[in-house]
Amino acid sequence: MKILLVDDSRAIAMVMTARLESFGHQVQHAIDGPMALSLFEREVFDLILMDIEMPAMNGFETTTRIRAREGHEPWAWTPIIFVTATDTPTNLITAIEAGGDDFISKTVPEGVLQAKMKAMSRIASLRSRLAVANTKLREQANCDGLTGLFNRRAMDLQVDALWEAAVREWAPFSLLMLDIDNFKKYNDHYGHQAGDDCLRAVAKCLAECVKQACDDRIAPGAFVARYGGEEFSVIIPAATPGVHLGLATCIVEAIAGLQIAHEKNDDWGVVTVSIGAVALDHAQGEVKQLFREADRLLYLAKQGGRNRVEAA
Ligand code: GH3
Ligand code: MG
Ligand code: MG
Ligand code: MG
Repeated sequence: MKILLVDDSRAIAMVMTARLESFGHQVQHAIDGPMALSLFEREVFDLILMDIEMPAMNGFETTTRIRAREGHEPWAWTPIIFVTATDTPTNLITAIEAGGDDFISKTVPEGVLQAKMKAMSRIASLRSRLAVANTKLREQANCDGLTGLFNRRAMDLQVDALWEAAVREWAPFSLLMLDIDNFKKYNDHYGHQAGDDCLRAVAKCLAECVKQACDDRIAPGAFVARYGGEEFSVIIPAATPGVHLGLATCIVEAIAGLQIAHEKNDDWGVVTVSIGAVALDHAQGEVKQLFREADRLLYLAKQGGRNRVEAA
């Protein structure tokens, strides 16, 4: 374990460090409360061993401050054990109230210290497994299973935040709504399995187009999402004027250029997409209106013969 040892006595800290290191743990020593706080802010520890009697900021206060700075995730809880010369019941109660988890005496026998460290190691490994599982879960919650793009939920969350910022700064905001042409006929003709493969290929190509066209200089924060079914959206906040149109044209060409056979797609013979493209020089009003306008333009692109961009 990575242990933070907080004790104002260098002599006691040296002895304790030697004991803990002999059990295979890594120890960092903070000479007082403020140093403990600054180490805690910079690094992640599996356990904190906290002295009570310290000048300036005692162990209880240091613990209360650490708890206040801790993240809200369940695994953010760092176990804190108080180490003291006087293990009175009052001290124990205050220690737990301050946010401590356990209490040991400075003269704790070797075997007991080792056993406590073993129990803490179990908690540490549980915490790190929980953190990994949660990161994975969060990724899955934001990710469309078929294409790997952001899903609708993730898109909505991001759009709300980006739009709010754009309105506040009166910044530009663009949006592309994209729909695969005659995709129902594709499924009917080639089967759903092939339909899924086609969706994946389109998504990949789309993501590449956006990555190529939207670097941090001309369109910072641009991203693609699967809007639903065979529809995708490209969100382009803060783009320089005209970027959305260039990108939309590029996407239409790139998808047709994939040459995925689709003999039921009008006269095109390959999979194509239609795009509705909107851009505001200055974001204002509601983002819903922008989506509605992109939808209207997409409909026009379909009516106009598909495999094309319709822009405001
Ligand atoms: P249009 O050119 O006007 O957009 O015609 P369309 O056939 O593409 O539009 P429509 O909305 O009639 O059909 C969309 C089809 O997309 C129907 C649905 O079966 C298919 N689809 C939606 N999601 C998936 C998916 O995850 N996998 C597969 N294989 N097909 C999907
Ligand atoms: Mg002390
Ligand atoms: Mg559709
Ligand atoms: Mg379609």
